[in-house]
Parts: sequence; structure tokens; C-alpha cells
Amino acid sequence: MRYTDIAIIGGGLSGSTAAAMLGRAGISAVLIDPHERYPADFRVEKLSGHVQVERFLKTGIGESVLRRATFAGENWIARFGRLLDKAPSRQFNILYDSLVNAVRDEIPTAVERICAKAITVETSPERQRVTLSNDETVSARLVVLANGLNVGLRHQLGIARNIISACHSISIGFDVAPAGRNSFDFPALTYFSERPSDRIPYITLFPVGSRMRANLFVYRGFDDPWLRELRRAPAETLNAALPRLKRITGTFDISSELKIRPVDLYVNDASGLPGVALVGDAFATSCPAAGTGCDKVFTDVERLCNVYIPQWLASDGMDADKIAAFYADPVKRACDEWAAAKAFAFRSVSLGTSPYWTAQRWARFIAWSVQGLARPLGGVLNIEPNFLGHSSSSSSSSSSSSSSISSSSLSSSA
Ligand SMILES: Cc1cc2nc3c(=O)[nH]c(=O)nc-3n(C[C@H](O)[C@H](O)[C@H](O)COP(=O)(O)OP(=O)(O)OC[C@H]3O[C@@H](n4cnc5c(N)ncnc54)[C@H](O)[C@@H]3O)c2cc1C
Repeated sequence: MRYTDIAIIGGGLSGSTAAAMLGRAGISAVLIDPHERYPADFRVEKLSGHVQVERFLKTGIGESVLRRATFAGENWIARFGRLLDKAPSRQFNILYDSLVNAVRDEIPTAVERICAKAITVETSPERQRVTLSNDETVSARLVVLANGLNVGLRHQLGIARNIISACHSISIGFDVAPAGRNSFDFPALTYFSERPSDRIPYITLFPVGSRMRANLFVYRGFDDPWLRELRRAPAETLNAALPRLKRITGTFDISSELKIRPVDLYVNDASGLPGVALVGDAFATSCPAAGTGCDKVFTDVERLCNVYIPQWLASDGMDADKIAAFYADPVKRACDEWAAAKAFAFRSVSLGTSPYWTAQRWARFIAWSVQGLARPLGGVLNIEPNFLGHSSSSSSSSSSSSSSISSSSLSSSA
């Protein structure tokens, strides 16, 4: 039996960030995950926007992790084959395994890493007992459950799942390469759907190292024949859905396999359970098209590790009332509510055919066009595409694409 204060189950973005923060705070913790290094997986590939980056920086590890990303200081916004704006951006592009492994590199050696799966968790208001796949047992005052989408422990612990929206959106990731030339003209690009009937909110293209990644989002059922067509003939299907995209990108090839991931929106309810706190996707999922998953991860972990765990360890016991304070935290609740609202608003503005949503789409189109025209005059309007998951900075003088990350791109004033 190993004894610790905090047993973190799951070493994805949430669990690894928690391990790094607790280790740096001198709190006794172990991190349990089956993989020594996080394997390749299609999840978030871009941390972007002032708010999301600031949330990461609050964990204390953001700065060194973001230095491993490819920075894009300008994002082109386009629709109907027209370039609307060359917006300053704060995009840090990095594949998910590189991101998580960079976070894991920030975990102090004092945090023990156990390469195994947690099989069962027995909870009590005093100590928790975690049984592992390697037959070891860990005794902890608190379990931080950061096991993402995994269902086994949820069932074993009797945690109820409330599905808010099944297959809310589907994310598709792939590489693109310019055809017959060396590079694309844009540093990064967000291209919005041409018609609501395409059920595509947008496609975003962004550099990761020497690759140009594409994330395409669609609102369709997972058994939709359109997805079968996309798998069979990716370039043709994409071109048919967004025929004027190539006016901005030039001709390109799809140069990797497609990763296709549907996402259900759900919230897990562990209130009433002593000794366990849920964070990240283990608590609730978010819509990738709205780009808020990492806001939730960083907010959960920052509040838990900076505010609640030090308080809880200062007194005896770990009953459900203590843990309830974390779920009721106003900063966490505001972030969860904002992410949920954005998931539905973004879907409505992309698909809605009523006069209201049609007007909303045109209002955004006009706002970006005006902003793009005003930018050379000083960018004074600074209308933020705030439903996009990445917002522009207030500076009108952007650097164009760059793979090196300067201090100013990380500082809060950038
Ligand atoms: C396709 C896609 C695109 C996305 N795009 C964006 C985006 O653009 N912007 C954004 O902000 N968010 C995005 N997100 C959301 C974001 O990626 C997630 O919210 C985030 O990765 C969740 O991290 P996590 O640590 O909670 O879960 P995970 O990364 O899933 O980590 C869970 C960990 O738990 C481990 N584990 C599971 N079971 C056990 C067990 N029994 N014992 C021990 N370990 C276990 C797993 O091995 C894994 O390491 C996207 C998500 C998807 C799916």
C-alpha cells in the first residue's frame, strides 16, 4: 500500500496539469496513468485567444509549455471565398500528445508516477483506496478523477451521467499541403461555412511545426452518409461543401489520414460522493467547435489545486460537503455555463435558418468586413469573433506567422 495525500487518476491535460501544480506546491501526490508517454490522440491542437491562454498561465506551467508550440500571430478570417480580415491572433498550435507530454515534463520528481490503470476506487469521508491493474493499492486523502471519457470508474463509483446533447458536433483533423508550391500565403486561417445546409460551422487551418493542420467541424449524425463520402473522397467532398475555400487557400492536397471524432455533451454528477473530485472531461465535456474544452480544464485544475486542496488538507476528513465547495466555485461555474452556452449558440448561428439567425450571420460577416477594412487605419473597431474560441488582441500591429514564441506573445498585455 502506498500512502499519499492526493491520488490523481488520469494523466491527460487535466491530470498532468494537476500533478505539476500540486508537486510545485509541495503537496504529496501520485499520478496514475497507463501510458508512460501520452500517445498520439486527436484532441485540442490549438490553444488560442487571450482568455484561454491567460487561464493556462494561471496554472504556473503555461509559459514553458507554450514555448514548445508553433505561434501564429495573425489569423485570416474568410467566408464566401472573400478574405474579410487579417486579425491579430494569439494561437499556440501543438498536437495533443506533444502538449500533454510537455505538461508532464513540468511535473516535479517528488510526484510519483505510476504506470498502471486504476481498476477500482473505494471512497470514504476519511481515506480513499485505489486498486491498480498492477495489483498495487494506493491510499489517499483525496482522489482527483481526471480520466477523461473513460466510463469504467464512473460506473464502479455510481456516478450519474447527464447527456446534454448526443453527438453535438463532429471534429475532423487532417494535414493539408499546398499543391505545386512550397507554402500557403496565410499564416493561419478560419473559413466560415457558405450555407447553413452544409452543416459546417467552419474549418480552421494552422501551422504546427512544418505541417499545416486542418480542423473541420460539422454538425451531423455519426452515421450520416456525408461522413462516409468524406472518408472515401476527402478532397472532393470538402471542395463540394466549401467550393470557394480554394480562392483563399489556393489548391491543396489532403496529405494525411482523417481523424474523425464525434463529441457528446454531458455532465457527470458526483455530488454526494466523498473523497473524489472530478476535473476536465471526467466532469463535463464541451464542444470542440466552440473551442472551450481547455478553458474548462485549466479552470477546474487551477481552482482545485490553488484554492480548494490546500484548504481541505488543512483540516481532517474529506467529506462530500468539502468537495461540494469546488463544484459550487463561482469561477468554475461561470466557465462551465459559458462553455455550455457557447456550444449551443455556435450551433444555432451556424445552422439556424430563421430570420434571427440569418441576420446574426450577416451581422458577423459585415462586422468582420468592416473590421478588416478599418484595420489598416488603426484597427480601432476591434470587433472580436467571440463565439469562435479565439479572439483577436487589441493591438493592430500583428506579427505574421512565426514559429518562435516571444515573451510578448505570452505576456498578458500582448
Ligand atoms: C476532437 C477534439 C477536438 C478538440 N478541440 C478543442 C479545441 O480546439 N479547443 C479546446 O479548448 N478544447 C478542445 N477539445 C477538448 C479538449 O481536448 C479536452 O477537453 C481535454 O483534452 C480533456 O483533457 P482531460 O485530461 O480531461 O482528458 P484526457 O486527455 O482524455 O485524459 C484522460 C487520461 O486518463 C487516463 N485514464 C483513463 N482511464 C484511466 C484509469 N482507469 N486509470 C488511469 N488512467 C486512466 C487516460 O489514459 C488519459 O491519459 C477537443 C476535444 C476533441 C475530442
